[in-house]
Amino acid sequence: MGRTITSRITINLVAGIVITVITVFVAVFWMASRQDEQAARSTDTMVVGGVSAIARRAESLASDYGWWDDAYKAYVNRDAEWFATNYGESVEETEVANLFAIISTEGTIDYHWTLGDAVAIDEVLTPDVIAQIREMSSGLRDESLAAERGIVATESAPMVVAVSRITPFLSDPDIDPSTLPLLVVGLALDEDRLGQLGQTFLINDLHFEPAGAEAEASVFPPALDIFGNTIGHYVWTPPRPGNAVLRSVLPPIGVALAIFCVVAFVTAFRARKIAIALTDSEKEASIAARTDGMTGLKNRTGFNELLDSPHFQTACKSGELAVIYLDINGFKAVNDSIGHNGGDELVKALTIRLKSVLPPDALFARIGGDEFAVALTGRSVRDTAAGAASAIVHSLDQPFTIHGFEFHVTVAVGYAVAGGTGLTPSEIVRRADIAMYHAKNGAEREAIAYHSTMETGALEKKQVEIALRRAVEEGDLQVNYQPVVRASDLSIVGVEALVRWTSKEFGTVSPSLFIPVAEETGLIHDVGRLVIDRACQDMLRWPGLKMAINISPVQLRDPNFADDILGVVERHGLSPDQFELELTEGILVNNPTIAKRKLAHLKSMGFTLSLDDFGTGFSSIGYLRQFPFDILKVDRSFVRDLGINSTANALVQSLVSLGDAMDLSVIAEGIENEDQLKLLRLVQCEYLQGFLISRPLPAAELMSLLDRLGEGRRFPIGREPERRAAAG
Ligand code: C2E
Ligand code: MG
Ligand code: MG
Repeated sequence: MGRTITSRITINLVAGIVITVITVFVAVFWMASRQDEQAARSTDTMVVGGVSAIARRAESLASDYGWWDDAYKAYVNRDAEWFATNYGESVEETEVANLFAIISTEGTIDYHWTLGDAVAIDEVLTPDVIAQIREMSSGLRDESLAAERGIVATESAPMVVAVSRITPFLSDPDIDPSTLPLLVVGLALDEDRLGQLGQTFLINDLHFEPAGAEAEASVFPPALDIFGNTIGHYVWTPPRPGNAVLRSVLPPIGVALAIFCVVAFVTAFRARKIAIALTDSEKEASIAARTDGMTGLKNRTGFNELLDSPHFQTACKSGELAVIYLDINGFKAVNDSIGHNGGDELVKALTIRLKSVLPPDALFARIGGDEFAVALTGRSVRDTAAGAASAIVHSLDQPFTIHGFEFHVTVAVGYAVAGGTGLTPSEIVRRADIAMYHAKNGAEREAIAYHSTMETGALEKKQVEIALRRAVEEGDLQVNYQPVVRASDLSIVGVEALVRWTSKEFGTVSPSLFIPVAEETGLIHDVGRLVIDRACQDMLRWPGLKMAINISPVQLRDPNFADDILGVVERHGLSPDQFELELTEGILVNNPTIAKRKLAHLKSMGFTLSLDDFGTGFSSIGYLRQFPFDILKVDRSFVRDLGINSTANALVQSLVSLGDAMDLSVIAEGIENEDQLKLLRLVQCEYLQGFLISRPLPAAELMSLLDRLGEGRRFPIGREPERRAAAG
């Protein structure tokens, strides 16, 4: 693109130069030729004018010498001497004309005088010519200065002849003009006279070319004799002032044009260089705008642009596109502890590690500080994406060593595959983002695939309800158990039962997604019963551990709830004091009086009561006092920010102190790293729960964990957290 612009600039400039040069030359030549044409036209006029001036001179000579009393008298008296003196001398000595002749009324030549031998009188005044002259003169007016003229061809040169009558000056009206003799005056259009004429007009070679001869140069105009026959042409080489001008202006114009060309070419060359540099830097800027400077990966703009390219569009249409979205947790801790340089180092190391588990053709981009995205294409993209997403999660099992310190980071991974028709790559990105969001808020550390239940549409809700109902009927829900440990020695004191649903239709569905649906549709009662029943069965396998069960406000609203749960517990030969019921603030807010009564009833049965997600609600502590809780579970959103900002530290500390003041046990949930563990121990939080200690495990896995830990059920302090894959 840049190249085409620069070559276009070059082509335009070169074309401009060529056109300028051609235009200048054409203009100069055109002007020269116009000048020549004009000069030719004006010499035409001059020649015609010159020849007719000669004719007029002959005419005036004829009338001057003809209208003369003395001449008439001399003619009547046949005074030859008078004529010789006055006419003959004018011709032979004064050379006023080439020929003077007096022709009688009968047509005979009475007298004649010629200049030199060049003019043979017989040749000029042939009988035919004389007859014609007489014919011409018949129309001569009987007045002063009347004369006629014409041209007569001779061997040597044409001659202009003018004729008048020899008339007495004081004309006698009685004289019949036809009785008067004729005076013929001849001026030869010979080389001398035409040459002279030419010189006055700056024409070198003006001469007469008799008819029939080959005319070379200008052949204007044709000369007619007194009979009206063409006898030849006046010929000359027209002057060419244009040529002279050309010869004088061409060298300076040539030099000026050469200088212009050089300057223009240099300018063109410079402009081209500048244009190339500009397009190059533009290209660099455009690449930089699409690249993440730190990792060299594409940034958000670059990623989105590439996804819009035909390759990904086509892949998307044919269901061969998958996008993985990942969000790294724990960055801030690194930045805060070893500075931003350390954080940058971590990003680079992380990029290398993530890259190593991705297929080589994956489009890998850093789209935010701690957010990355991967686009994959191919026929088996569904499997590739699932594999890559899981590999990403586990690639972070090993810590990073930055500036000599070890850091653990975790990652929330969501992915989406182009399934349906009419989806665009940006829709797949959006879905992967939603899935990632669920992974971030979800219980498990596994990558989560997008499914439509993640959307908050009514249609999906209906589908979830149908599928969930079937799962409940078929007993197709699992219960996992997440250990709760004593902070002081990390010994397991209890477990929390967390329901799990892997739907054939939607894949793994998070409880935070389907529990609300179950609550809305009343299915929660069946789900709750199933969980309690399963928990009781599993409880038998690990005596001595307290079993925490999440109770929805909807369940509590059921008047038979307390009796039902007690029934189930007793049916399994267990007692309520082995159970802890986790309730959220929602129960208390809607109908506090009834809630208070119900909670008191449950407590009187022997159940331990805990307030879940403590800190996220609106209730004041004074308000909470009226309810008979035994335990507060500090919400994991507070724990997450521990060590990251001091407000969180202070908040958790005050929550723990509050629990102490109210004589309640405090459990902190969602502990993910050693820093959080340290800080919670520091503020003397009593119990802990979180991925760092253990993820929620299926009953069998929990069994083997307990076996491994042995008698005291203690996690070795400072040990690697329990991170083995769990079915969720
Ligand atoms: P919850 O009662 O606050 O449960 C704790 C949630 O935090 C669980 O998510 C658990 O897997 C997750 N968790 C535990 N440790 C960590 C950690 O270190 N990091 C992170 N990021 N998460 C951690 P889960 O299983 O997805 O459950 C979500 C919520 O759904 C529960 O919140 C609870 O309110 C509800 N729920 C789960 N099972 C049941 C059930 O059987 N009945 C009822 N009514 N509600 C349930
Ligand atoms: Mg809970
Ligand atoms: Mg909770």
